[in-house]
Formats: sequence, C-alpha cells, structure tokens
Amino acid sequence: MIVPHDAGGRTLSVKIPALWLKMVTGVTIFSILMFTSLLVYSSMLSRRLVHYHKAIAKNVEQKEVIESFGLEAAKVNQAIAELRHEDNQLRKLLGLKSWKSKIQLTNNYNGEGEDVTRGLKVADVNITERKRSYEELKSWVNTVRNRFATTPSSWPLYGSIVSGFGYRVYPWRGFHSGLDISGQYGASVRATADGTVSYAGWRNGFGKTVEISHGYGIETLYGHASRLAVSVGQRVKKGQVLCYIGTTGYSTGPHLHYEVRKGNNPTNPVAFLGLNILSASKVWRQ
Ligand SMILES: [Zn+2]
Repeated sequence: MIVPHDAGGRTLSVKIPALWLKMVTGVTIFSILMFTSLLVYSSMLSRRLVHYHKAIAKNVEQKEVIESFGLEAAKVNQAIAELRHEDNQLRKLLGLKSWKSKIQLTNNYNGEGEDVTRGLKVADVNITERKRSYEELKSWVNTVRNRFATTPSSWPLYGSIVSGFGYRVYPWRGFHSGLDISGQYGASVRATADGTVSYAGWRNGFGKTVEISHGYGIETLYGHASRLAVSVGQRVKKGQVLCYIGTTGYSTGPHLHYEVRKGNNPTNPVAFLGLNILSASKVWRQ
C-alpha cells in the first residue's frame, strides 16, 4: 500500500501475493550471488590471459633464438664447405688425392630445433676432418721440403757449360758423364743439395774430387778441383763450399766437372740445375 503525503492524494493499494514477494527476494539474492561470482571468475580469467600472453611472447622469443642458432649453424657449415673446396683445390695443385668426406653437409635448414643439433654435429665432424686433412697436408709439405733439401737443385758455381752430357769428340772422344762448367781458377764450388761427403780425394781422370751422397740413391761429383774444403763423412748443407776450381786430372784448363748419379748411373745434370720445390717433382718421377 502506497500512501501519499499531500491532503487530497489517493491511497494506492496493490495486492501482492506472499509467494511473489518470496520469489522476487529469492531471484534478487540469486542474481547478486551470480553477479559476484561472475566478477570473481572474470578477474581470475583476465589474470590468466595476461599470463598466457606473456607465455606466448616468451615462446616467440625462444623460437627466434632457436632460429638464429639454426642460421648460425648453417653459416658455419657453409664456411666449412668453402674450406673443404679450398682444401681440395690445394690438393689438386699439389697432385694429391682429394679428400673424401664421410659426412654430407646440410644446407636445408627448416627452423626446427633438431636441425640445429644436427647442423652442429655435422659441423663438428667436418671440423675434425678438416683438421686431419691439414695435418696430412702439413706432413706432405714437410716430406717434400726434406726431399727437396736433398735433391741437387742449384748450380755448383755460376759459369757457362763448355761441354755437355753425352757422347763427344772434343777434347777427348767418348762418353762424357757430366757437365763441364767454366770458372776462374780458385773460385768456390758449392754443394747443390744437403748430403754427406762420401769421397774426398784423388780420382783417376777427375783429379781432386768431392763426392756427396744425398740419399734416395742420388750422388753428385765435383772434379778437377785445385783444393778440397771438406773431408769424408762430413755432413754438408746446400750452398756449402766443397772445393775450389782447378785443372787437376785430365783437364785442358780450369773448370768444374759436375756429375749427378742416380743409383750409380750418371744422368744429365742439366735437369737438376735451377730447380725449385715445385719443379723438383719432375726429377723425382724420372
Ligand atoms: Zn767433364
């Protein structure tokens, strides 16, 4: 019942059943409860959403990191492939067999984590292979260097060749087993390679003579000297003075008789004059 406060007002009365009143009260209480719980639930959800977004952001970040690792691994493998190519080129130049790798290089990186691991494993194996290859090359270079040091490769003295290797008629008819190189009386005659003095003394025909053994069955002989500078058993280095120009033995004037012998057989010394470490291989193959 609604009662107005002014004098002429009419009293308004509405009949509401008690059940309705109970229902309205019930619905109101239920609504308030629902609203409150929804509020709590939604705030919880929004907090979770923030966490979720953070997690997604982190995931993207990590994926980028993995991807950049993968790209780096691919770059490393690319660099290794280039090294391998250079290695094989060098081997080709030096006449060595090319290196056969046990592993294939991968360049098809697709951004997955396993690919990164695989890429790094491949890089690791390749680096080990490259190391071994370089060690092989290094030992080859050392072998060649040692072989070259003991290969007659220089002129025993600088002069002109007055008589070549082979059959001749002047000054004596017959086979000439070496080169005659002109030189001033007393000029130094130098070892054309490292070796050991195997003979130093008088030889019939050659007069005062030095013979050097170089190993690999190679010997050199220096004849017609006026004076000797070494003795038997002495180790000599390439360029070391062995004797001095003279005209001892069968000789018509001061000159050097220079011989190169392979397995005791005289060979043309011209092939051994002015060799370098790369051109020396042609006399090794003879
Ligand atoms: Zn001669």
